[in-house]
Amino acid sequence: MENLKPKRPAPPDHVVTCVYCGQAYPENTPTHGADVAVLTEHIKVCPKHPMRQCQEENVQLRRALEAAYNALVGYRYGNSSPDLAEEVCEFILKTGLVKSGLGK
Ligand SMILES: [Zn+2]
Repeated sequence: MENLKPKRPAPPDHVVTCVYCGQAYPENTPTHGADVAVLTEHIKVCPKHPMRQCQEENVQLRRALEAAYNALVGYRYGNSSPDLAEEVCEFILKTGLVKSGLGK
């Protein structure tokens, strides 16, 4: 009786793909645990991973912070130019990461 059961096809190999770009990882790549270096390395370079936006925003925020810092240093040493303040504010607003609270 056992021999009459239809044979099931072998289950497909465990293929993991990147949910953002679709890249297939090597067969049987673990998805959790201590050995996820392959996944981690791809996340670092995947062009469609949300981390790319975070990294770009981080770069823009660092530049804006640097501009604000430099302006403050200028004020510290006596440069009280409203033009400098305006220039830095415009630079920061151009990042799109900060909204103006001054009605602009
Ligand atoms: Zn990817």
